[in-house]
Formats: sequence, structure tokens, C-alpha cells
Amino acid sequence: MSTVRCDKCPGYFCFAGSWDKDKAPQDCPMILFPSTFEKARDVSLSEDVKNLNVPAARVEKEGFCKINDKNAPCYPRIREIVEYAKETGKTHIGLAFCKSVSNEAAAIGSIFDSFGLEVDAVLCKCGGIDKSEVGIPKDVKIRGPDTFEASCNPITQAEILNKLGTEINVLIGLCIGHDMLFTKSSDGLVTTLIVKDKVTGNIPQAALYNIFAKRAYLTG
Ligand code: SF4
Repeated sequence: MSTVRCDKCPGYFCFAGSWDKDKAPQDCPMILFPSTFEKARDVSLSEDVKNLNVPAARVEKEGFCKINDKNAPCYPRIREIVEYAKETGKTHIGLAFCKSVSNEAAAIGSIFDSFGLEVDAVLCKCGGIDKSEVGIPKDVKIRGPDTFEASCNPITQAEILNKLGTEINVLIGLCIGHDMLFTKSSDGLVTTLIVKDKVTGNIPQAALYNIFAKRAYLTG
């Protein structure tokens, strides 16, 4: 049973600066966990967190241009990563990428190169280890039990980038689960640039607007 459901909030009062406990739903986390907010505010004021949080706010602001006196976004996410690296003084970028987006990874690497960042990149299948060697049952192989299928190797990807000392690791199309293992194993900060979604061309949000996908695959 759920405890907090901001996704069902009738007014997003916290967002609007108009929060009031009489207006907010009873399962509002601001009602249920007041001390957590106090604690998080204190943590946010520590130098470690400010050094990551303030640049995030700065990049967010600078990513808007004024057009006809209105805010209009002007930085694609790739550029935001470049600006965030600059703001945080980080110069060494790791790319953890999937074979299915290797062309995109090369293009992204070249963009980071052009901004003078140091780039190291590791492919998901690095190591060329058959799935059966890492405990994946043969019947889980996609092309048949006796066919060689290289296992994705997110822990190796992370460990190699850790050895190289990358400061920000960029996930490019890693599979669900492999992205989590990578994140758990990474010493560097992790951000996602391309989310793998084999059906929507890596735009997971698109499935929400596709009535057929919703009907067939997104109704529990
Ligand atoms: S924190 Fe409270 S007011 Fe804000 S979105 Fe969640 S439920 Fe709504």
C-alpha cells in the first residue's frame, strides 16, 4: 500500500509556494515527514552538497534564453552536461554506452572533445564474456541457448572508468538494470543522457502518448 503519492496531488502546492496543511492531501510528505525536510535542508547547506546543487541551479538558469522577454530553453541536455562540468570544475567525462547507440556515443564524445573535456568511453559488452559465464541461464539467451551472446558488463564499465578517474559518467543507452548496476558501482557522478527504450527510439515518454502501446503493454 502506498504512503505518499505526490503524483496524485490536486494542486502541487509546494511548487507554487502556496503550501498549507489544510489544502495539501493527507498523504503529503510535508505533513508525514516534517523532520526529513528539516534534515535535508541542513544537508543541502553543507559545502559538499552546495558544490553540486548550486551549479545545477546555475545551469538550469543559464539554459534559458530570453526571447521576446520570455524564458525559452536553449541548451540541449548534452550542452547542459558540458556546462555542469564547467561549473563544478570537472574535466574528465566517462561514457558508458550501449552497442545499439555506438554512433551516438561517438558523436557525443566528439562534442565533449570539442569543449576541451577529457573523454574515456567503455562499451557495454566490453570483456566479450558469454552470458552463461556470469550466471545467466542459457534459456534466457535471446538467440538460442548455444549461441554466443556477450553479456552486458556494467560493473566492468564502471570499474574501468573508476580506475581512470572519470568525474562525471554519462549513461548512453544502457539497459534497464544494467544502468542501475553501473550507478551502484560508479565512483564518479552519474547522469543519464540516452535512456534505452527499444520500442520508442529511446524516448520512453512517447509510450504514454501511444494508445496502442498503452492498451497492450502499459495496463497492469
Ligand atoms: S509535497 Fe505535498 S503539496 Fe507537494 S506535490 Fe507532494 S503532496 Fe502535493
